[in-house]
Amino acid sequence: MDLAFTPEEQAFREEVRSWVHAHLPQEIAHKVHNALRLTRDDLQGWAKILGKKGWLGYGWPKEFGGPGWTAVQKHLFEEECALAGAPRIIPFGPVMVAPVIMAFGNAEQQKRFLPGIASGEVWWSQGYSEPGSGSDLASVKTRAERVGDKYIVNGQKTWTTLGQHGDWMFNLVRTSTEGKPQTGISFLLVDMKSPGVTVRPIKLLDGECEVNEVFFDNVEVPAENLIGEENKGWTYAKHLLSHERTNIADVNRSKRELERLKRIARAEGVWDDQRLRDQIALLEVDIVALEMLVLRVLSNEKSGKNSLDIAGLLKIKGSEIQQRYAELMMLAAGPFSLPFIEEAMEAGWQGDAGAGALGGFPGGEVANAPLASTYFNLRKTTIYGGSNEVQRNIVAQTVLG
Ligand SMILES: Cc1cc2nc3c(=O)[nH]c(=O)nc-3n(C[C@H](O)[C@H](O)[C@H](O)COP(=O)(O)OP(=O)(O)OC[C@H]3O[C@@H](n4cnc5c(N)ncnc54)[C@H](O)[C@@H]3O)c2cc1C
Repeated sequence: MDLAFTPEEQAFREEVRSWVHAHLPQEIAHKVHNALRLTRDDLQGWAKILGKKGWLGYGWPKEFGGPGWTAVQKHLFEEECALAGAPRIIPFGPVMVAPVIMAFGNAEQQKRFLPGIASGEVWWSQGYSEPGSGSDLASVKTRAERVGDKYIVNGQKTWTTLGQHGDWMFNLVRTSTEGKPQTGISFLLVDMKSPGVTVRPIKLLDGECEVNEVFFDNVEVPAENLIGEENKGWTYAKHLLSHERTNIADVNRSKRELERLKRIARAEGVWDDQRLRDQIALLEVDIVALEMLVLRVLSNEKSGKNSLDIAGLLKIKGSEIQQRYAELMMLAAGPFSLPFIEEAMEAGWQGDAGAGALGGFPGGEVANAPLASTYFNLRKTTIYGGSNEVQRNIVAQTVLG
């Protein structure tokens, strides 16, 4: 197993690094480095900048307009973006639905949907979960009934991330109640501007409306929006989920946040506290171990072996690490991190912009005010994309045997 990068890969990293530094707007990087609130324009603005360069669909093959990068190049791209303070690419379009459309959609669907995803113009949402159908996803009840050349959709999705911005939504819908639940599910693309679609935001612990309920009330969807075959949606859904779980591991973001944790500890004068340093060291060891795991997957792919089937493992470790750094930041900032001040998440609140190494006042009062929001927000990571308990079951069955 060779975990070192070749000179060509190092040169590629340099190319990406200088491009990202030249094109990532500084006010967006400032917000990311300080966990401040990102607007729709921030997220989509960066997506469009990447789209123009042809890098939003960074995992896509050349035949569909992607750069055709190797697994290692994709990893280096993700790492350079994260370390520079780029917002996470909203995965629903380029990382999730696009590979499904490429693999199972017809030529017409590929021509119709992929360009808008690649350019960042069209915002996609994921309609899998329903009340009562989360871990037990195969029990989805949202019904799509075929009437002539249309489907009539009725039901409810929930936890739809950033669905309030959504233009289109990919959904698992029930098209049959015969046989096993998995065999009656279809994969349907719905225009969220269609009459009968209602999006209702859910306010979360951190004060943000990051997720939504989406209701379908006699929504007419052209049958041409069905991906692949009717009742085969479960196969397509699983194809997509493996992409989602690898993406959630997000080791590069953890590397960036580890450095932020160290900056906070220094600024708060607790860097020399041996017990805190021990905790930070343990976290760093786990981040390096996760990175090694990711590199092992890449090394396997590079040498043409089957990719290790460890998406669930990456998800578990990655999400636990994200929660640990948020906890340690709270601990390091002590009482300054305690107040939950929603306004503190806005860039410019009490003049944070451009001041100090933390992007706030030395001493941390302002810089650390958004920490409570980050802490609350990251409670989600062990739940979404398939809860960690369920991932452990999957790892036990597929990896440990
Ligand atoms: C912030 C956030 C964003 C999300 N975004 C989206 C999105 O954009 N689109 C979308 O479709 N979904 C989204 N989800 C939904 C997410 O996929 C589900 O929350 C998740 O799959 C868990 O389902 P559930 O919430 O229904 O919990 P349940 O399935 O009801 O589980 C409740 C508890 O029981 C445990 N449990 C359940 N079954 C088992 C088992 N067999 N063995 C052991 N323990 C078990 C779970 O681990 C959990 O602790 C999001 C969720 C969150 C929190």
